[in-house]
Amino acid sequence: MSYQRSSWLCSAISRKYGLTCLRYYSQNTRTTPRAKAQSKIAHIDSQRQFSPALVDSFHRRHDYLRISLTERCNLRCFYCMPSEGVELSPADHILTDDEVIRLANLFVRSGVTKIRLTGGEPTVRKGLDGIIRRLNELRPLGLESIGMTTNGIALHRRLPLYIENGLTHLNLSLDTLDPFKFEIMTRRPGHDAVLHSLRVALHSPGLRSVKLNVVVVKGLNDSEVLDFVKLTADKNISVRFIEFMPFTGNKWDKAKMVPSSQLLDIISREHPSITRAPDELNDTARSWKIPGHTGSLGFISSMSDHFCSSCNRLRLTADGQIKVCLFDAKEVSLRDEMRRGASDGELLDVIGRAVQGKQEKHAGMEDIDVITNRPMILIGGIQPRKSRVRSLPRLPARSYLLGDIRLLPHIYRRWSSSSSQPSLRLTHIGSDGRPCMVDVGSKDATKRSATASGRIYIPGSAYNLVTGSGDADSTDKTIQKARSKGDVMTVAQLAAIMGCKRTSELIPLCHPLQISNISVTLTPERGVCPVSQHDDEGALEYSIKCTATVTCEGKTGVEMEALTAVSVGLLTVWDMLKAVAGKEMKIGEIIVAHKTGGKSGDFTRGP
Ligand code: SAM
Repeated sequence: MSYQRSSWLCSAISRKYGLTCLRYYSQNTRTTPRAKAQSKIAHIDSQRQFSPALVDSFHRRHDYLRISLTERCNLRCFYCMPSEGVELSPADHILTDDEVIRLANLFVRSGVTKIRLTGGEPTVRKGLDGIIRRLNELRPLGLESIGMTTNGIALHRRLPLYIENGLTHLNLSLDTLDPFKFEIMTRRPGHDAVLHSLRVALHSPGLRSVKLNVVVVKGLNDSEVLDFVKLTADKNISVRFIEFMPFTGNKWDKAKMVPSSQLLDIISREHPSITRAPDELNDTARSWKIPGHTGSLGFISSMSDHFCSSCNRLRLTADGQIKVCLFDAKEVSLRDEMRRGASDGELLDVIGRAVQGKQEKHAGMEDIDVITNRPMILIGGIQPRKSRVRSLPRLPARSYLLGDIRLLPHIYRRWSSSSSQPSLRLTHIGSDGRPCMVDVGSKDATKRSATASGRIYIPGSAYNLVTGSGDADSTDKTIQKARSKGDVMTVAQLAAIMGCKRTSELIPLCHPLQISNISVTLTPERGVCPVSQHDDEGALEYSIKCTATVTCEGKTGVEMEALTAVSVGLLTVWDMLKAVAGKEMKIGEIIVAHKTGGKSGDFTRGP
């Protein structure tokens, strides 16, 4: 390892850095000759000063470096990547492992004590374990922590190796606890894999901290805040709520950003004893703790209350640009400097000039959205290279509830624009003809109810079985089998109630609702079917009518819930009776009989 002996390297580093390096060194190495030599170097380094190149004109010392290892990602989070995709740098523009390590070494010798690997998605970078191992070798020079921010999709199997190689801090990005919403927000499946990674991380004693990053977006996942808080009850985790930030192409709008203060209000109402906890030095998150909870909460208020005055971070993009502020589009290529043969001293001069150019603070919330910057996924500016547009994801092999997952981004078209639509239209189809959810954010919650009904027509034998009016002691095996499933009506009633509660998971663009009551009845009937519709065997003479009434206090109606209850109830009757009624049964006449509340007023279906 060659060390540059420029003047700053030879003078004394602050006592803090020196002590910390030595402590780490003694904890993490055996006393081999190499280790002794490293210890000596560490001691020399401990006498060195923080490089002026990393101190800006506002006296901020930059001891934290975030290194993006790749522009690629295995998710397509809408807030991070524009829906039209991003343009990838050609492979040879991306820093090689050796270049990453050379720069990391230089930064650490200049005073950086924390390195965080990010992306794109760092776990998709080949040789990540080797990069972590080589970074770990920088500890004797003063590196204290190696962190990684990852989406956790491809993490759980390799995490132990990363930790063994030196990873100490893990930030996992997970914005929702609902697998369906996960696919909407990330445009990809994988919720289970992330939860698995979280479990592995929480059971890894080698990690000094595990944090969960939650970008909160109004109308999407803000209703889950208290569920995330619950995670901290018995898990040693810090859940950090991040304000939604604007980047090129991510359809940011102030109305979709939930200020941290609002979240804190919501949490305080549920947990009045919540208290402020000490922040980590230079941490971007304001920490809070609920007494009795194992974990803690953090708020990253980059938009409403930025933390520029204590900003200590620099970013290195995957293609080797140094970026001194997340919101500043200015970049300087260290890659080009290295490839033209620059010495460490020359590189440090370039870094120093970039750091000197850092603004006191980034633009405020009122005007930050006009800033043109890279999409977040690439922070870690490339000029458009049309031949290398990364398109939206290919359809995964298995189909999902929504059928074509490529439609998911378009759900946001409507959500992302204010509505000036003609009134006669399909509410779930946006002006561009694509599916969308209705934005109910500005509606008032009112009392609503809906009653739906439907029938299943069954043969007489099945009718007798259900009503007990036939041969109760029948030895017919199929009848015994049908009976063994239990009371048809009771099972169907429960199924209807359970199905009703899951409506928003089954019907893609339905909102989840807080239902206050579901009442389901199943009534056997004879001769209700119009004679003209009887089939040859008279199979339609017997039926079971299912009626469901659902009530809620909410912003949207509960007709879908009532219809789902009836459908699931009738399907369950089918399932219970299929052994005796085979395929003779018929389900039909599923209707909304009555509804109250909402803008469209009350409604009762005529005869
Ligand atoms: N792929 C990795 C991941 O998902 O964690 C690392 C890269 S990602 C760009 C790093 C972090 O930035 C994630 O926690 C993500 O949630 C956050 N992020 C991305 N876009 C954002 C935005 N528009 N506003 C706030 N946070 C954002």
